[in-house]
Amino acid sequence: MVSRGAALRAFVLACLGTLALGAQTLTLTFDDGPNRVQTPLLSPDARNAAILKALGDAKVQAIVFTNGIDGGDTPEGRAALAAWGRAGHLVGNHTYSHLRLTNLAAFKADFLRCDAMIQGIPGYTRLFRFPYLKEGATLDVRDGMRKVLAEAGYRNAHVTIPTFDWLIDERLRTRLHGDPRADLEPYRTYYLEDVLDQADRARALALRLTGREVKQAMLLHHCLLNALFLGDLIRALRANGWTLVGPLEAYADPIYQQAPRGLDTGTSLLKTLAAERGLLPGPEGLEEAYEHEKAALLKAGL
Ligand SMILES: [Zn+2]
Repeated sequence: MVSRGAALRAFVLACLGTLALGAQTLTLTFDDGPNRVQTPLLSPDARNAAILKALGDAKVQAIVFTNGIDGGDTPEGRAALAAWGRAGHLVGNHTYSHLRLTNLAAFKADFLRCDAMIQGIPGYTRLFRFPYLKEGATLDVRDGMRKVLAEAGYRNAHVTIPTFDWLIDERLRTRLHGDPRADLEPYRTYYLEDVLDQADRARALALRLTGREVKQAMLLHHCLLNALFLGDLIRALRANGWTLVGPLEAYADPIYQQAPRGLDTGTSLLKTLAAERGLLPGPEGLEEAYEHEKAALLKAGL
């Protein structure tokens, strides 16, 4: 795993070395917050505080994309969200129930329900993250929801760097349930290498697609894994040349004005646009990438 990531990075850097490049820039976005379910090691409040501390220590502004389920729409959940806003972060919308977009009317109602929940919270920002990154499987539904977002003054907060933090987090929690004293170091190492690898791939794809550095948006989750290792992740990203910027600076990049032509791709904006322009055989959807990642985790014994 370590050698695979290191080798890939060396290869990518060698390929890019002769190009005149701007800064490698990304913003951190956290989906499914504030997750209040019980996990090993840390309470929901401790996890929220640890993520905020890692961001604060590193002086990084981020955004949390909110659901009402999993404890979000409770006094404790609203207090956890308010702590993000008070610390200078942004609070966006991820639907109340983490719905998959199939029925437009139901999805619109769930989107508006989340909006009503977060409107009074400091940091409230009209950025929307589609659950499963799925924008709709038919033209009517996709364009209908694009219209709903525009009318509500929202923008689609696309992802350009997908990660598998949620899957690594799931494996880590399963291990800790079986053995509360399990060694966390292999998970940390795997996680950091995996994210650096995904970031490098997205950067290389952006350069192929646009000929320039794109201000990237990294998909992470409000989870135990990040409560434990977010500080390490930020240090590793910076050590690999990444500059971390706030969400609004990143989403001002013109790449985010481009609306994919395809339906329900469920993957990063860069992969979708690259596939549409014939630079990739097809966008690797989340399900397909998930099988690869799961196999890699099993191979690593995690
Ligand atoms: Zn989500």
